[in-house]
Amino acid sequence: MTALASLAALRDTGVWIFDLDNTLYPASCNLFAQVDRRISEFIANQFDIPFDQARIQQKRFFRDYGTTLRGLMVEHGADPVAYMDYVHDIDVSGVQPSPLLTQALDRLPGRKLIYTNGSTRHAENVAGRLGILDRFEAVFDIAAADYVPKPDPRPYATLIERHAIDPSRACMVEDIARNLAPAHALGMTTVWLRGEKDYERAGVEDGIHIDHSVDDLPLWLAQVVGLDTANLHQTNGG
Ligand SMILES: [Mg+2]
Repeated sequence: MTALASLAALRDTGVWIFDLDNTLYPASCNLFAQVDRRISEFIANQFDIPFDQARIQQKRFFRDYGTTLRGLMVEHGADPVAYMDYVHDIDVSGVQPSPLLTQALDRLPGRKLIYTNGSTRHAENVAGRLGILDRFEAVFDIAAADYVPKPDPRPYATLIERHAIDPSRACMVEDIARNLAPAHALGMTTVWLRGEKDYERAGVEDGIHIDHSVDDLPLWLAQVVGLDTANLHQTNGG
């Protein structure tokens, strides 16, 4: 199959599953840096320790549990709602509305869902700012996942069941490569939004199956739906 034919084949996708952070908006917005900082602050407040020490705790939780929240819940019985409210209380004005993304999503056949390790409130906040919120049928958030984060396979099974998804006709888009491994195992098509950071790239060289590697989501989706991108100057703002 040529590259273009393989892109055109994606128009038969029944369900599109998009990650939120650093996927629906580019990492260059630095929005997640705000969340990252709020997470450290939350830990510092919770344990009454200096910010730098909280930072070290945060890295360990992330490494050992996949998300900081999971570590806080397992080791300290933290309240997930209070945590989510605190860490997602951020300024989203750095995210620019993306007309190209909106246009591409409008033309993209198939159902569309957001699947995030964050909260629905955060997804609505960010997708609202991007101008794309009403293009999605639902948000499957960390509460829906019973606070078990990607890439644990269990929430993927819940997602499929709850939203009646046929994985063989589904396509998942993510910046963290290892979160695509359970999707591929279920038979989904995988799209990796190439990240620079170690935690985003981990596993790519060791064989996590990636069907499509992408640098710019709006531009790539525009190609999938056959929009004429030759004269576009704007990609995804931010
Ligand atoms: Mg992400």
